[in-house]
Amino acid sequence: MLPYETIAAAESTMGRNLTAAEALWFRYSARMPDYLLYCHNIFFLFVIFTLVPLPLALLEVRLPSVLAPYKLQPKVHLPTSSFFQCYKDVMRVFLLVVGPLQLFSYPSKKFVGIRTGLPLPSAGEVAAQLAVYFLIEDYGNYWIHRLLHGRWGYEKIHHVHHEFTAPIGFAAPYAHWAEVLILGIPSFVGPAIAPGHMITFWLWIILRQVEAIETHSGYDFPLSPTKYIPFYGGAEYHDYHHYVGGQSQSNFASVFTYCDYIYGTDKGYRYRKAQLAKIREQRGAGGENGEANGWNYNEKFE
Ligand SMILES: [Zn+2]
Ligand SMILES: [Zn+2]
Repeated sequence: MLPYETIAAAESTMGRNLTAAEALWFRYSARMPDYLLYCHNIFFLFVIFTLVPLPLALLEVRLPSVLAPYKLQPKVHLPTSSFFQCYKDVMRVFLLVVGPLQLFSYPSKKFVGIRTGLPLPSAGEVAAQLAVYFLIEDYGNYWIHRLLHGRWGYEKIHHVHHEFTAPIGFAAPYAHWAEVLILGIPSFVGPAIAPGHMITFWLWIILRQVEAIETHSGYDFPLSPTKYIPFYGGAEYHDYHHYVGGQSQSNFASVFTYCDYIYGTDKGYRYRKAQLAKIREQRGAGGENGEANGWNYNEKFE
């Protein structure tokens, strides 16, 4: 809720005219309690995890031949029922765990100082804070994920996320409820260290979820804008982690590749990539209809 009655009062206090974005924010949030603004995140989570993976699921039903070369594990075809089951399980964890956590974590938002007022942050400030959030979360996530691949962590918790050896968009948050909670911690460390505006916090939640869906999409599209982000892992990078499964000691990072590179946990992935490149070069395989794709392509070569 904003401490001004009108836009004119806000402008007179700030000593300048509001920008178009600030006027929009004023109209939307001036009379809305901060608690309600914070709870928008629950709505974003439900909407994103319902709508964003949908086109990817439709591709699984009928894959146009022009997109076939980009499917990372072309031999895997999941039945429609497994998409519904996955969505149902994810929504159950959201309703019973993530939603209530959001409702009750409002005091922490107040404590760290995420603000809702005016002025709005500049685009540069938002971008810098989002970059910090992504880097911090990626580092924390790397170590938690690596620990979850220990015997106890995998058998008790992380095996659920690995039920999909060929990931799908809907399976990005498909995990044991404990994993969803544990991995939520690094997501909040960035905003706690460098608190910003509520809009930055919303953007962070939205972009992180969209990124997770892309990473689990099962497709490596060449025109994805994320291809231009330095050290970005992407769908192919994480797909290999799922393909290897529980024994995987490779590609633990969720967003970038630098942690795996520094700690030497990308060797299996790089070796397999080099092998596949060699096979395709020797065979001259052009990837017609995607039959030359997949981590297990021409296993006999090994
Ligand atoms: Zn894993
Ligand atoms: Zn995954």
